[in-house]
Amino acid sequence: MDFLGEDTLEQSQADATREAYLVLLRELGAAGLSDGGRVEVSLKLSALGQALPRDGERICLDNARRICAAAQEAGTTVTLDMEDHTTTDATLATLGELRQDFPWVGAVLQAYLRRTEADCRDLATSGSRVRLCKGAYREPESVAFQETVEVDTSYVRCARILLEGQGYPMLATHDPQIIEVVQSVVEGAGRAPDSYEWQMLYGIRPLEQQRIADAGQQLRVYLPYGQEWYGYLMRRMAERPANTMFFLRALATKK
Ligand SMILES: Cc1cc2nc3c(=O)[nH]c(=O)nc-3n(C[C@H](O)[C@H](O)[C@H](O)COP(=O)(O)OP(=O)(O)OC[C@H]3O[C@@H](n4cnc5c(N)ncnc54)[C@H](O)[C@@H]3O)c2cc1C
Repeated sequence: MDFLGEDTLEQSQADATREAYLVLLRELGAAGLSDGGRVEVSLKLSALGQALPRDGERICLDNARRICAAAQEAGTTVTLDMEDHTTTDATLATLGELRQDFPWVGAVLQAYLRRTEADCRDLATSGSRVRLCKGAYREPESVAFQETVEVDTSYVRCARILLEGQGYPMLATHDPQIIEVVQSVVEGAGRAPDSYEWQMLYGIRPLEQQRIADAGQQLRVYLPYGQEWYGYLMRRMAERPANTMFFLRALATKK
């Protein structure tokens, strides 16, 4: 679950986001939904104060720590969403800090970034939870592949590194061709069904989600909630026109 909000420039807003996660985790725990990581939470560090002009990194780390402690109490985990490339180093640094106390904190790596294969190698270590996605932001050519085919082949290379490594890969994509190719990498790597998972956004390709679950594989649904959905949707569509097609296709089809 992801409490919508990003690019916070007020500390009060960052604190309110932290509180929303603490309430969520308490309620998930009380409802028995978080046991064993059945429902976990995703965080955008920019919503927790990462970009605040003064002490942003520290405020964000403190907020994330408190959320991780609440997640541990509720018996579940936390994954740090990845935002635009100017935040990648800071987010991975915060990940490293958090993992000292909470080794189960997950990271997201974006296949469209040229650096990501190397990041996959660094993070494919024992117990390391890594979500691999294509990436949703508009990024310059200097740091990111621009052609669809380059992003897709990067995704497969990165998935192979993660699946052949020691960590826990979380394969986030709705792309039928990628799913087919990566499925064969999963089999080649001899991965047990509980040693990786697929991830898709709530409401997108629900029939494919069901197919994967029916085949005995783990499938996690990413569910954003809260008041900030309009800005989130508009920003995503404005930043990267491909997201508009993605959204419209999802409205029209369940397959
Ligand atoms: C769980 C989850 C978490 C994410 N977290 C992050 C994050 O932290 N940071 C980030 O930058 N991004 C994140 N993303 C978004 C991600 O980076 C992509 O922007 C998004 O998933 C779209 O890429 P895709 O791989 O699903 O396929 P796309 O490239 O959008 O689609 C590829 C192809 O899939 C096919 N396809 C897509 N939808 C359908 C459909 N409904 N029916 C039939 N065919 C279809 C089409 O052939 C299409 O050309 C996340 C995505 C998921 C699922």
